[in-house]
Amino acid sequence: MQFTFEPIGLIRSPFKEKFGIPRQSSLAPAARAELVLLPPFDHPDTVRGLETFSHIWLQFVFHETAARGWTPLIRPPRLGGNAKVGVFASRSTHRPNPIGLSLVELAGIERDQGVRLILNGADLLDGTPVLDIKPYIPFVESRPDARSGFVDGPPPQLPVNWSARAEADLNARPTLPADFRRLVDQILAQDPRPAYQDDPARVYGVRLFDTDVRFRVSEQDVEVLEIRDAP
Ligand code: SAM
Repeated sequence: MQFTFEPIGLIRSPFKEKFGIPRQSSLAPAARAELVLLPPFDHPDTVRGLETFSHIWLQFVFHETAARGWTPLIRPPRLGGNAKVGVFASRSTHRPNPIGLSLVELAGIERDQGVRLILNGADLLDGTPVLDIKPYIPFVESRPDARSGFVDGPPPQLPVNWSARAEADLNARPTLPADFRRLVDQILAQDPRPAYQDDPARVYGVRLFDTDVRFRVSEQDVEVLEIRDAP
């Protein structure tokens, strides 16, 4: 059996590359994205009533990594990058069918030209093709008593400190969204480095909008060093 699916929309998000994207939706509530519906799905009728739901499920394609295929075992970052679990015991992007599932807050619906859904808490790369939208139904889908295996709660948070240089860089970029700083804080507090990297002197960069946010991570905190133009 084979099936062919057509994207019903495309994501516009601040995340221009995979590095730095939160490892799950809702982990960075300031990650605001838009889902722009594509014709013929961009008719206001397709979303009639959806605004009565605060959260929605998105099914999407891991388009950036889809061509890399899959393996039966993967190393979840949660297990330090060494221990392996089955692909179906993980939320890895490298799956037999490279389909992702994210729960996001629906902050609004714009119907002026086509249809755009305004989302908070996205973990989606800019340009991600979305296959389907479904409303989240808490009384059916919220199970606070469920076992969650090796994923025992939210990731630890590090304090994020801004250097004087980074503060000045931010102030020199008035066109960035008002909650840009909050977004940077939420992303970096989760320490986006790969599990096996632990060099406090190493400088990393996260691409957000048209910027390259330079930072380093010690055991105690994250320091934002500067904000450059994205390369
Ligand atoms: N919440 C989804 C799920 O459970 O299916 C995604 C979880 S996956 C572990 C999250 C990662 O997917 C992000 O950190 C980001 O690196 C990656 N990602 C997001 N959008 C992507 C895309 N379009 N193609 C490939 N990888 C993507």
